[in-house]
Amino acid sequence: MGCMSCSHQDSDFTLPKMNLLLITIDTVRADRLGCYGYPKKTSPNMDKLSENAVLFENAISQSAVTPVSHASIMTGLLPHNHQLRSLHGGVNYELQPGQLTLAEIMKSNGYRTGGFVSAFPVTQHYGLHQGFDAWDQQFENNDGKGLITDKNIVNTGNAQRRADVTASRTLSWLKQNAQKPFFIWTHFFDVHDPVLKPPKEYLEQFPFTLLDRINTLRVLYDCELAFMDAEIGRILKKLEEMGIRKNTAVAIMADHGEGLGDHQWWGHCILYQEQIRVPFILSIPDHKKGMRIRELVRSIDFVPTIVDLLNLNMPQDHHFDGKSLHALINQKGEKKPRVAYSESINDLSAYYNTPFENESIYSLNDGRWKFIVHREDSAYKSFELFDLETDPHELKNLYAATPQTAERLLNQLESYHSYIDNAQQPIIDEKTKAKLKSLGYIE
Ligand SMILES: [Zn+2]
Repeated sequence: MGCMSCSHQDSDFTLPKMNLLLITIDTVRADRLGCYGYPKKTSPNMDKLSENAVLFENAISQSAVTPVSHASIMTGLLPHNHQLRSLHGGVNYELQPGQLTLAEIMKSNGYRTGGFVSAFPVTQHYGLHQGFDAWDQQFENNDGKGLITDKNIVNTGNAQRRADVTASRTLSWLKQNAQKPFFIWTHFFDVHDPVLKPPKEYLEQFPFTLLDRINTLRVLYDCELAFMDAEIGRILKKLEEMGIRKNTAVAIMADHGEGLGDHQWWGHCILYQEQIRVPFILSIPDHKKGMRIRELVRSIDFVPTIVDLLNLNMPQDHHFDGKSLHALINQKGEKKPRVAYSESINDLSAYYNTPFENESIYSLNDGRWKFIVHREDSAYKSFELFDLETDPHELKNLYAATPQTAERLLNQLESYHSYIDNAQQPIIDEKTKAKLKSLGYIE
């Protein structure tokens, strides 16, 4: 890793050798959590955690595609810099060994590292295992068709596993490895699609009163989320019981949200707020309880923040695209607001028979304005501009009415290397194709 140098010495923020638990909750849009204003009780454990944590109200992921977004969370880099830019991952879309991940940073700082994931899109196949001493992705032997039927019968798919299994795997490793500083990444996938059926008591928690497919799936999403939340609660309780919660920072983030029918779109990939505004909760023991931060922050800011928080040594001159949230958390008057870039390239082809299947989509969010650009064959297809202050649900396109703002944001977007880069078309091998099919990404 080259020459190491001490990064920060800030006694009001850092604690030596604090453990870190990162839980990524795949496909969870922020507005489905109680602590983000949802009226149903989908997230009592995360709500309780947020009362003793810093909650970022406006966190934007850099992609609405699972491996791409996770790579940004883990490297602090934008997709065109970490180069894992598509789910449809042939060899050209693997996170390359030369990239520095949070797990590698933690490991080189003397931490034991364990990664426990719940679905194919975050596996070794995509290079996301880098830096983990223990790596657990055993879901190959699960069985089932993986689809919800008209009668709401749900089977378990064969390339993902439920939160209780992944939580148990996490806890058994933790029991063996808690004597020394550790970094754990646990990934849950339950709400991603209807494949993983939660236990009966969770299916009964929110009644299925409307029998049409969309409403059934929406309620199922809430049930699955409540189950994931309960498993988060189980892990947090175990940390308390083991007496290590007071020395363990806990971060909860999602890689992207979900359309759930908004903008006539069920899944993710097309970059409206419900797809890229994600939960982000950071619990630092005895620090900033119940703090809510309204400023725009990004997934890429996570690793630089952890480097500050845990006072980690870093290779000299290492570059992050993200920026530490230290000043925001400590209210030290950060002057320059962040701008959030997000992209979705080479992934829309999975959505057959949509207007977008051959397009790449890019967005820029400056905290007030949201600009979305569609491109196909290096040509512009469409532009959308939304004023998030007056139109948070992105219903009124102001592109034609506000040309100066649109031009400013287009210029800024074009300054990104990725935007003018002709991204290489991915290679999909047969094995990958079969797994993507079982996950419902392709038909
Ligand atoms: Zn995902």
